[in-house]
Amino acid sequence: MFDKVLIANRGEVALRIHRACREMGISTVAVHSTADAEAMHVRLADESVCIGPPPARDSYLNIPAILSAATIAGAEAIHPGYGFLAENANFASIVEEHGLVFIGPTPDHIAIMGDKVAAKAKMKALGIPVVPGSDDPVANAEEASAVAEEIGYPVMVKAVHGGGGTGMKVVASPKDLSAAFNLARTEAKASFGNDALYLEKYFERPRHIEVQILADAHGHVVHLGERDCSLQRLHQKMLEEAPCPALNADGRDRIGRRACKAISSLGYRSLGTLEFLYDDGQFYFIEMNTRLQVEHPVTEMISGIDLVREQIRIATGAPLGIRQKDITLAGHAMECRINAESPDSFTPSPGRITEYHAPGGLGIRVDSALYGGYHVPPYYGSLVAKLIVHGQTRNECLLRLRRALEEYVIGGIETTIPLHRRLVGEPDFINGDYHIHWLEKFVGREK
Ligand code: ADP
Repeated sequence: MFDKVLIANRGEVALRIHRACREMGISTVAVHSTADAEAMHVRLADESVCIGPPPARDSYLNIPAILSAATIAGAEAIHPGYGFLAENANFASIVEEHGLVFIGPTPDHIAIMGDKVAAKAKMKALGIPVVPGSDDPVANAEEASAVAEEIGYPVMVKAVHGGGGTGMKVVASPKDLSAAFNLARTEAKASFGNDALYLEKYFERPRHIEVQILADAHGHVVHLGERDCSLQRLHQKMLEEAPCPALNADGRDRIGRRACKAISSLGYRSLGTLEFLYDDGQFYFIEMNTRLQVEHPVTEMISGIDLVREQIRIATGAPLGIRQKDITLAGHAMECRINAESPDSFTPSPGRITEYHAPGGLGIRVDSALYGGYHVPPYYGSLVAKLIVHGQTRNECLLRLRRALEEYVIGGIETTIPLHRRLVGEPDFINGDYHIHWLEKFVGREK
């Protein structure tokens, strides 16, 4: 086991990783920008190193500074969390070249899955159904038009190296394709430094269902069921639940087994998530995330398995201590993402926390780095807390979530708590009857 791990991240996920390390007897090294000197992840870690000024490119994305911090502190491994460098294959290789362990998959697997066209081709070859679309990147609007005619409108133009819901364009008819293609190209270049694009069939009312897998370096692969992440705004998840209200045990078992088989053939090791669109009873693969997901706690709540602990164990080369038959998924869990932003206009709302009271009681988990008097800096993502609730049934979970949202007080800044309070009273949500575009309509209607 490692003695010391450097956590190359901030906020709630840095704390989440610190907690797993603590329970495993591993010392932690926090890194932080000058804006985060007072942050909770710095306060709780055994050691901390300042790695640069506030902008992420100079601190949390500053590879030389992070490696120097790891060397100076004598860390043996680096946990990247999610976001920042978590899916940067180059970073993973540099970490390994320095004789440190990257807590995640191999650089090659990160690189394959970071190229969404290559990832789809790979999965298709391994027997996983994928969203219909171009098999290769499309070079120009004429090529895109030929593919669109073949798969049928509406289509979606997406960035090959995309992420975070950015740069996707829906095209309803041929006359709009050229403009959308060129706009997507400009956005992809600006956001990802690469303007390669591909095309997919656009689904009008699918659910987003993803399967959590765990794989070790000895060929053992298990799945921990699925999460429904259909409640999204601007293609970003707002509330997730497990299990998916629209999937039965048979459907879960079938997609879980197919995912395990594909992952095993790939020789993949670490945590991973296969994301699918689910339409009319069919699964269509969209992408694989080769890291810890924001919404991983809902799976932990129904499986009782500490995913970060398993991820760290796998990185040491240890075999998985669990087999598929040992995994029981019990009850229901939901997670609300609480962002420091206006619940109406969604404009960021950084600032000082004047009052803080987190909910508690049976089945409640709050993953957050907030505290009274803390100053939410304006430089990073707006996620400041995750409220995760477990119940024996979906209804119990829902009633408990409503109660917990009533209790939660975050003063001094605006948050998305009021939006979640409205959402959990909405009949479609209560009935589990929603799809990936439902929340956008709900938010529009609410205004
Ligand atoms: P990113 O990596 O940027 O998150 P994804 O490919 O995972 O992009 O897609 C993010 C979200 O965008 C999905 O969860 C879904 O809501 C929507 N989306 C992606 N592809 C399609 C599609 N072909 N049809 C309809 N919606 C899609």
